[in-house]
Amino acid sequence: MNIILLGPPGAGKGTQSAGLVERHGMKQLSTGDMLRAAVKAGTPVGLQAKAVMDRGELVSDEIVSNLIDENLAAMPADQGAIFDGYPRTAAQAGDLDRILAKNGRSLDRVIELEVNVDALVERITGRFSCANCGALYHDTANPPAKEGVCDVCHSTEFKRRPDDNEETVRTRMEEYRAKTAPILPGYEERGIVSRVDGMAEIAEVASAIDAILA
Ligand code: AMP
Repeated sequence: MNIILLGPPGAGKGTQSAGLVERHGMKQLSTGDMLRAAVKAGTPVGLQAKAVMDRGELVSDEIVSNLIDENLAAMPADQGAIFDGYPRTAAQAGDLDRILAKNGRSLDRVIELEVNVDALVERITGRFSCANCGALYHDTANPPAKEGVCDVCHSTEFKRRPDDNEETVRTRMEEYRAKTAPILPGYEERGIVSRVDGMAEIAEVASAIDAILA
């Protein structure tokens, strides 16, 4: 299975991808995570992408499609891929079809996480992750069981994304509306879009996704 999780920033794509990895052994291909790793490592791609990401704008199609191409090629043929945060433009959607075909794969499903845009700023500005293992949390919706201690690895170090501030979030929302949402009709024509209520509890969203993939 090769699937796209689509939805605006804060819709829960990262959280649901992590669940799919755990439950089904799929691989999460998050261009945002790849770019953040490149920024951290100070690679040429990272140096180019950093300022764009800090503004909440989109990095070039060429950069992100190359990242997907490289990462997909390195995967075992029988492992399913979850595209998280990619494609985000019509050009990237075209690139993805070509990259999948080159690897003998095709797109099975596009799952749109439907969310109330007004709730997203709160969702995003409250989120943080374990600095050690990357487990995802939220100040109010999903805090660690013991305050200040990661449920998964017991680390006491956490971090927040620099672009998870209100001003940048608004730009990211606008980028989604203007450039990403318009790719949905093309997938709808192919009959591969399913919609899930992204405002439901994390476990409920996960069950709804599993039902679609079953
Ligand atoms: P994300 O973690 O998916 O929210 O991505 C964080 C930031 O990385 C975005 O605001 C963009 O600046 C950049 N980015 C991630 N994925 C893409 C993509 N597919 N196309 C362009 N820019 C991207």
